Amino acid sequence: MQIIEHPVKKLRAALISSRLDLIERYQQYSDGEKKVLEDCLRPDGVLFRAITVRSDSDWIPAHPEESYDFQSFFSNPYRSTPCKGHHTIYIQTIGSFGEAALHTNLYVEWLRQYCEAFYYGLVVKTLPPVTVQSTGCTFRVNSCSNNLQLYAESWNFVFGQASLTEGMGVFSFARYDDNFYQRNYAGQLKKGSKPKPGDYSVFNNYYIPPITSTLLLRSCKVVSHEVGHMFGLQHCQWLQCVMQGSNHLEESDRGPLSLCPICLRKLQSSIGFKIADRYKALLQWVHDDGGSAGVHAVKPTEAFQEYGQWLQRCLAMME
Ligand SMILES: [Zn+2]
Ligand SMILES: [Zn+2]
Repeated sequence: MQIIEHPVKKLRAALISSRLDLIERYQQYSDGEKKVLEDCLRPDGVLFRAITVRSDSDWIPAHPEESYDFQSFFSNPYRSTPCKGHHTIYIQTIGSFGEAALHTNLYVEWLRQYCEAFYYGLVVKTLPPVTVQSTGCTFRVNSCSNNLQLYAESWNFVFGQASLTEGMGVFSFARYDDNFYQRNYAGQLKKGSKPKPGDYSVFNNYYIPPITSTLLLRSCKVVSHEVGHMFGLQHCQWLQCVMQGSNHLEESDRGPLSLCPICLRKLQSSIGFKIADRYKALLQWVHDDGGSAGVHAVKPTEAFQEYGQWLQRCLAMME
């Protein structure tokens, strides 16, 4: 196991920058906000941890990328920034959920509310579902597992993919089912079934994984990560962060739901929220049972309890 420990000086420069205007901009944060952001610079810091690399199949050794500090993010002229008339994130579901629609709609609603807290200050709307066929996506049946997969060129598989400049991304929950890698996975197609390219009927009434707390946690992670790319956030190499790249499920499960201070500053500078307001909204989402009129379903948040405590620690530090 390798721990990626950056010298404090390097982390400070990545967070605050060396450009005078960006230093002045940083000084506008409240004392409480600075306390949270700079927790990673203190030897006794409690909020942020160094990235650990467990094997060569983890993202960082498998995909060496540059590390982008706040200054490089801020100076990128191609990133999308919300502005008046352009401050809505749309969630478009693809495919119909058949009999599971009632619960699945609620689940998408929980994700929408999570995004609205994570991207605090922006409006998040869900659009009516479109058919898989209308997207013209490519798909394949994995020859070993018989599982149906969306197909992204040049990748073995993807959890999700987003454009850093087009304001668009896509992700699938298929791999977040605990049983996806099991031989008895309920979403397997019949042995030998080979749907023709362009024959989307295979998606009709396709298996929907049970909505568990772990599925919701993994989905919130991938949604906030992919939407983060749409704001021009690159993969994080600084500290444990939801913007770290992830190569496999164990690595993604190991990573936090939260942004490291450097990515948090990037997002804050793009949207303009008060850091405490955003943490409060996220904490409220964790505590809210998520019921809605006529639907008896409780939002499964057991897997979010540690995150809730972390948010409370951040808020306590800012008081
Ligand atoms: Zn990514
Ligand atoms: Zn980060």
